[in-house]
Amino acid sequence: MAVPNVCIMCPNLVCRKILSVPPECRGKTVRCKNCGTNIRVPAKDAPAPAPADPKAKSAA
Ligand SMILES: [Zn+2]
Repeated sequence: MAVPNVCIMCPNLVCRKILSVPPECRGKTVRCKNCGTNIRVPAKDAPAPAPADPKAKSAA
């Protein structure tokens, strides 16, 4: 079964190109073909954003 490519977005705000890199690039740095920015490929799929901590800033 083929492992799907990893899709990452270029962090360069003037580029924001979606790059599809092979899974063996996980944990490594790839270069955006469009603007040349080095992009770190996350080792795992990014987890869902943590819910807001209700204890934070509870100085009401
Ligand atoms: Zn780019």
